[in-house]
Amino acid sequence: MFKAFLIKYAEIGIKGKNRYLFENALRDQIKYALKDIDGEFYVSKEQGRIYIEALSEYDYEETVEALQRVFGIAAICPVVIIEDTAWDNLVKEVGNFVENQYPDRNFTFKVEAKRGDKQYPIKSPDICIDMGAALLDRFPEMKVDVREPKVRINVEVRHKAYVYSMIIPGPGGMPVGTNGKAMLLLSGGIDSPVAGYMISKRGVKIDAVYFHAPPYTSERAKQKVVDLAKLVSRYSGPINLHVVNFTDIQLYIYEKCPHDELTIIMRRYMMRIAQTIATNTNCLGLITGESIGQVASQTMQSLAATDAVCEIPVYRPVIGFDKQDIVDIAEKINTYETSILPFEDCCTIFVAKHPVTKPNIGIIQRSERNLEEKIDELVKTALDTIETIEVK
Ligand code: ATP
Ligand code: MG
Repeated sequence: MFKAFLIKYAEIGIKGKNRYLFENALRDQIKYALKDIDGEFYVSKEQGRIYIEALSEYDYEETVEALQRVFGIAAICPVVIIEDTAWDNLVKEVGNFVENQYPDRNFTFKVEAKRGDKQYPIKSPDICIDMGAALLDRFPEMKVDVREPKVRINVEVRHKAYVYSMIIPGPGGMPVGTNGKAMLLLSGGIDSPVAGYMISKRGVKIDAVYFHAPPYTSERAKQKVVDLAKLVSRYSGPINLHVVNFTDIQLYIYEKCPHDELTIIMRRYMMRIAQTIATNTNCLGLITGESIGQVASQTMQSLAATDAVCEIPVYRPVIGFDKQDIVDIAEKINTYETSILPFEDCCTIFVAKHPVTKPNIGIIQRSERNLEEKIDELVKTALDTIETIEVK
């Protein structure tokens, strides 16, 4: 049973000052991921490594699974820590490691050594050779293969020694918090949770906004969005979910504008409102789950018409994905089952039978002029009555 893990991370682009920011963010995200697990852990950072030590009994499977959700982790290595690095003791303990980990030792192996402590009297190549020989002595059934060994026994000697042979892949990406913050437009669908996950994987912290239209959309539809935010937060960390009451704005657009333009005008108001909330909360961009051509409001012309009201960048990470590609990720991150629950969505209720698929921005702007009388006030009320839910 392992009492510790060595965490490996990709080192590209984290030279100099960025490195410590990256490592601190990674350490914080690891602590966050482990907080709900039964067991006490100590996360430490030393010499370009992050170690997690269990201070109590803990659930191994659950712990590995939680770490596999921490962006920035390239690999998780369950490790045995040896306090006394004197050569004879090291030989004995590495042998014990092999004995405990591999009941059946009919395999080829190789010792890979790293001497982090340059004071240590034996150099890395000699650790490899001498340790390999010592293991062969103790376990004659094992064979050395330096080219393609079945098992690589890694021995790192620092002020303690660390032995591991198992390398469990992490999710990759960058630790959340190393790349600013963005505002996700989160609906109850399949695409937007995936979009949030993808941007958060690049180290971006996310908050979210949901446009709710009671009584046309129910409490259960809202709860579904809260549940989706919670599923995404398993990867992204806590999300502030801003719930905007959109009913009066939608009804007003419905009353004043041509019905085939409803969706596009409604989406332009969603973007405007999301952008105001984003700017007020230090978000550097918006995120949506749009994909070219998926529906009428996602043709190139429609996307241009929604984009035209945005002054901050809009990130659409699934823009070139087929639905199935998006579904595959939704299944992987466990949002799919929740996304397909059949609750109404504010876009579908007010949708026209034949929405424009090639909106002309000039025409849309002219239709929006019909809203001049009351729209500013309705938007202000919507912003003033936001309910913010801290999802974690
Ligand atoms: P999704 O599966 O994410 O709901 P969709 O294919 O249903 O996407 P649309 O309904 O056209 O597509 O929405 C496009 C994007 O606009 C969504 O991905 C989401 O980012 C945003 N969006 C749509 N409806 C809402 C809403 N009620 N609240 C917040 N954002 C929304
Ligand atoms: Mg939708």
